Amino acid sequence: MTVFQHNGRCPICEKEVTFSAEYIWFRDHLLCSNCGSIPRERALFKVIIDYFPNYRDLCIHESSPGGRGASVKLHKECRDYSASQYYPNVAPGKTHPQSGFRCEDLENLTFPDNSFDLFITQDVMEHIFDPEKAFKEIARVLKPGGAHIFTAPLINKGNKSERWASRTEEGEIIYHHEPEYHGNPVDAKGALVTMHWGYDIAGYISDSAKTPTTIIMIDDIDQGIRAEYIDVLVSRKH
Ligand SMILES: [Zn+2]
Repeated sequence: MTVFQHNGRCPICEKEVTFSAEYIWFRDHLLCSNCGSIPRERALFKVIIDYFPNYRDLCIHESSPGGRGASVKLHKECRDYSASQYYPNVAPGKTHPQSGFRCEDLENLTFPDNSFDLFITQDVMEHIFDPEKAFKEIARVLKPGGAHIFTAPLINKGNKSERWASRTEEGEIIYHHEPEYHGNPVDAKGALVTMHWGYDIAGYISDSAKTPTTIIMIDDIDQGIRAEYIDVLVSRKH
């Protein structure tokens, strides 16, 4: 049963569409009638268009792309788009034989310095054991003037970010709270949540990776952008 409907224009498929939801939790359920995208994907894409209108000509890497929405559009339209997934049993930099994806670990990227204009992640940075290392690695592989554009649920909002799970040097996982998992396109078990981020993530990235970070909060129902936790972050490398 549809609980909400609104006609508008989708920033991803660029068509006049109906945004409709069968559940009031819009974050996962306010779908574009044409491309099936959800609000955080449309918010991310609006930020890409607004900040980098020439995105089609840029060198873009996406870590852990999804099979719809922004990932599909970037893949289809950008001249120089590449993507990777993380597989624990594949050497970073090598290709996974079944999926064809290159394996990359955000904490230890195999790309040379200054490789990309844009680095995209969607709901990935809440699953990283060493986020400081990952943000530094992403900054390293960005070209000067480039940006990491990403979504991550900032569920702690104005409260301090909290570590939810960590890993010892021996690789053992420590659960600081009840374990939480999100859907993972490459692992049926799901992805373990390691961080409950708040708005202090912007300062954390600016300090640790030296890439000044802005949080962009959009509410624009005519573009289907309305839901909890759809902030888009832009970290720029100077
Ligand atoms: Zn659409």
